[in-house]
Amino acid sequence: RTVYLNGNYLPETEARVSIFDRGFLMADGVYEVVSVLDGKLLDFDGHMARLKRSLNELSMKNPLSDEEYLDAHRRLVRDNDITDGLLYLQVTRGNPGDRDFAFPPEDTQPTVVMFTQSKPGLADNAGAAKGIRVVTVEDQRWRRRDIKTVQLLFPSLAKMEAKARGVDDAWLVEDGFVTEGTSNNVYIIKDGKIITRELSSDILHGITRAAVLRYAREAQMAVEERSFTVAEAQAADEAFYTSASGFVTPVVEVDGARLGGGTPGPIATRLREIYLEEARKAAI
Ligand code: PLP
Repeated sequence: RTVYLNGNYLPETEARVSIFDRGFLMADGVYEVVSVLDGKLLDFDGHMARLKRSLNELSMKNPLSDEEYLDAHRRLVRDNDITDGLLYLQVTRGNPGDRDFAFPPEDTQPTVVMFTQSKPGLADNAGAAKGIRVVTVEDQRWRRRDIKTVQLLFPSLAKMEAKARGVDDAWLVEDGFVTEGTSNNVYIIKDGKIITRELSSDILHGITRAAVLRYAREAQMAVEERSFTVAEAQAADEAFYTSASGFVTPVVEVDGARLGGGTPGPIATRLREIYLEEARKAAI
């Protein structure tokens, strides 16, 4: 695989980053994941806009222009022959040459890494056809979840707990209300209404979320942005999650309670179709 490191395209075995890199020592970095379908990038502009916001919130400079990010994405997709898959992009505060809590001098260059992951059949995965099962776990992440940082240890622990309990993912809960999934935004549907938590620093502002809510409103579906409890989720008619890699994926069980008879509901299924169709059309 060819990967990108600070302006260079290298075989993955030759791409090296310093042990003093702030990404490695302090998880001081941000990332994005863009989906690739039929060799084209989905929601690229949205992901770049969020990247710039994340960098800005952490007072990190943006090392590349939008054209440079786009060129690099396209080159990696081409060189690695990606039809369906993901493009991972990470920017860290770079290598100050030592370990210190204070930020390094202004002229320290950020470290930029990009690589592809080939996922043949990404748009027709089994989870989407059958729906996934989730358990709830207390949300113990920091309070700036709107910044897409590489501090992913808690979501990783929650995902492992879900697996240990025999299900696919965890929904995180704070003060009795669901925040989001370990790596996705979550929704319930009751009496035809799509309910999802409002945007704040409690959740990541999903790029797929923004697109799906726009398509839902355009299709005259009712959308309510508010917090919901685990009990409400368990009593819902349907549920689903959104993310760049999972698009719209139905959720059929929450803490052992089956929704809609345990099979994907009509609205989640329809939204997945609409999202995939529209996102493919707009892909670049
Ligand atoms: N919420 C969290 C915590 C995530 O990690 C992600 C994606 O990785 C999402 C939501 C979904 O965001 P997006 O649709 O931009 O992929």
